[in-house]
Amino acid sequence: MSLLFPFENAYAQLPAQCFSKALPTPVKKPQLIRFNEALARTLNIDFSNVTDDELAAVFSGNETPENSEPLAMAYSGHQFGNLNPQLGDGRAILLGDLIDVRGQLMDVQLKGAGRTPYSRGGDGRSPMGPALREYILCEAMTALGVPTTRALAVVASGEPVVRQQREPGAIFTRVASSHIRVGTFQYFALRRDEEGLKAIADHVIERHYPEIDSTAEDRYLQMFKAICKAQADLIAHWMLLGFIHGVMNTDNMTVSGETIDYGPCAFIDAFSMNKKFSSIDQQGRYAYNNQPAIGQWNLARLAESLLGLFPGDEKEAVAAATEILGDYSHWHHSAWQAGINKKLGFSTVGDEDDAINRAENDKAFSERLLKILDDGRLDFTLFFRRLSDLADQGSNADRASLLALADDPEARKSEPLLTELNAWLDDWQTRLSEREVDLVTVKARMHSVNPAIIPRNHRVAEAIAAAEAGDYTVFDKLLSAVEQPYVSRPEFAEYEQGPQPEEKVLRTFCGT
Ligand code: AMP
Ligand code: MG
Repeated sequence: MSLLFPFENAYAQLPAQCFSKALPTPVKKPQLIRFNEALARTLNIDFSNVTDDELAAVFSGNETPENSEPLAMAYSGHQFGNLNPQLGDGRAILLGDLIDVRGQLMDVQLKGAGRTPYSRGGDGRSPMGPALREYILCEAMTALGVPTTRALAVVASGEPVVRQQREPGAIFTRVASSHIRVGTFQYFALRRDEEGLKAIADHVIERHYPEIDSTAEDRYLQMFKAICKAQADLIAHWMLLGFIHGVMNTDNMTVSGETIDYGPCAFIDAFSMNKKFSSIDQQGRYAYNNQPAIGQWNLARLAESLLGLFPGDEKEAVAAATEILGDYSHWHHSAWQAGINKKLGFSTVGDEDDAINRAENDKAFSERLLKILDDGRLDFTLFFRRLSDLADQGSNADRASLLALADDPEARKSEPLLTELNAWLDDWQTRLSEREVDLVTVKARMHSVNPAIIPRNHRVAEAIAAAEAGDYTVFDKLLSAVEQPYVSRPEFAEYEQGPQPEEKVLRTFCGT
């Protein structure tokens, strides 16, 4: 029996300069760690009667499936603000794209499958740690409801990868609605290759934004607008969950609006507005509260790349793009506000004219809370989850449990902070009782948007350490925990806790 993929290879039909053909390099002793059967089913992959060894052979790149036209995609990118004209898939190989059960074209890509023409000095490989990290993070994001690339499989290569030290290697299979990035457009714009630029743009419209009339004169401007809207929403979604991407280079920003590239990313435990984890992000360029502005900066680079395709002369094109980039901020803020209001239990976004909001509008009210969370370094996830628990408690609410979430023991005893928090909670309860009818429903609604379980750094680190020593059970359990983030289950109670002081992960690494 063999594994059957209904590959279309639509990307391989694009002009030759969009990619380079590249075959995976076989590995010594592939061993299947995990195969995502549920996802495979949605991709119309036939895996009936396939053994783990056969899965390992295909998802390590040792065997190339029938109908696959393996290739590495070309792209450029601004990395930490510096333009690198020649990046491309240096350690990723697209096996092909196929139509899933929704009728959506999806990419299946091996990551860590060996060198490609874009590898530059790299070995084309991936250590097992980052591969497992990406698996957990992207599946957690899916369960949390955030658009993201997905994990189809992970296979141990049986070969070491040399980084700071020797580490076990792995191949990760990533699924995405496409791997086209802002940097893909930059690649063609930099080369003044209008054929390539248009081919990719037409492909993106057909693939991601089919509602755009493909004959409209301003279709590329409409595409740009749709991409900006998708990113405004995506970044709001991240922020609402305390997620820090960590490496928002233009080559790590998709045009589909899916989260991609789980390198040094992390969820915040103790909240701080300018939190960063990544060891290479010295200046905090990609810190938590910089993400919306960096998103806009990246989209401005996209606009520059597309300018020649927009209607009118250059001045008109710039004016149109600038207006959309301005709209991006509004879209982002309204997505954030709608989301934070939901997290606080409000079923509406207050209108500035209504009585409750006249004194203090929703924006100021939520900002007041973030300031408290920041001042006390409160655990972001646990705060909203515990707040949800209090929604229907009225004056019986146990507020002490909230301040106990402060990271700093001093903050837990801080009188001014306690006063601030109490005042805010009084106002919150007043607003809830004035704006909402049924507080039991409010509580359930809050639980459905404020997760109990996120893939906390120390838990991810623990799962990776066990796997590197040959024990995958910790990884499997963590995965089961994060797959249902909005329900508290006794068997996963430990995953609801924040880290103990000695468990705190302060830094994350790219792990390439
Ligand atoms: P990333 O930091 O994963 O976004 O990667 C940035 C660029 O470096 C991309 O072009 C990657 O394909 C390339 N790259 C990262 N790691 C490797 C590696 N081990 N071998 C070859 N290329 C790599
Ligand atoms: Mg990348």
